[in-house]
Amino acid sequence: MASITLRAAQKAYGDALPVIRDVDLNIGEHEFCVFLGPSGCGKSTLLRVIAGLEDLSSGDLYIGDKRMNEVPSAQRSVAMVFQSYALFPHMTVFENMSFGLTLAKLPKAEIEQKVKEAARVLQLEELLQRKPKELSGGQRQRVAIGRAIVRRPGVFLFDEPLSNLDATLRSQTRIEIARLHRQFEQASVVYVTHDQVEAMTLADRIVLLHAGADTARFGSIAQVGTPMELYHHPRNRFVAGFIGSPR
Ligand code: ADP
Ligand code: MG
Repeated sequence: MASITLRAAQKAYGDALPVIRDVDLNIGEHEFCVFLGPSGCGKSTLLRVIAGLEDLSSGDLYIGDKRMNEVPSAQRSVAMVFQSYALFPHMTVFENMSFGLTLAKLPKAEIEQKVKEAARVLQLEELLQRKPKELSGGQRQRVAIGRAIVRRPGVFLFDEPLSNLDATLRSQTRIEIARLHRQFEQASVVYVTHDQVEAMTLADRIVLLHAGADTARFGSIAQVGTPMELYHHPRNRFVAGFIGSPR
């Protein structure tokens, strides 16, 4: 249901050179796929294309077997977690997590049940009546993840969700995200990071994108494979250098 396919995907902003070029990719149902690459290589753009926050300039996007190019974001069964948590400051944790469900006009009892279930999974049960400013950075990020979970999307999209956290919280939240993925059996995950360690520890497969400075290939895929494939069999120097392969 929730596989993602990109065919000959190109994306340019205005008249500038394409930021994404020639991307052909299939992300399987229940796969944990990491988009990895240096800053500016187009990871967020690709994620935003899948989310429906940007349109492709050419090529096709499918989620499941449905072509999504012109389908509005709200109808794509995707949920996105950003690096800045983007919580509503004046709302409680409960209200933040239930916001999307309230908009979708779900019955109150069902909303409550869904939020409580997500709060249990994320260990936020004690914090439901607090405001974001009364939470730590790690707790805020868990609320942002909770807000995505309650909608039970087919696809979770994470854009550098750990980059605002300190080292301890970063590893805790990373473990949490891996655990969530195992629990939500139907969902696929696309996870953006520039951090090799995060990619190596979380990914079923890594999609490594070329660096922005490499203007000839910038925005295209350098290599796709499991962490071990990229590590032991890098296709070229760029991949070896970025992954830190032994040479
Ligand atoms: P990453 O997430 O890998 O750091 P981005 O996808 O954010 O990369 O950006 C890729 C390139 O596209 C960068 O050169 C960036 O400046 C450019 N870019 C991103 N968003 C926009 C936009 N809305 N308008 C114009 N250029 C953009
Ligand atoms: Mg980015």
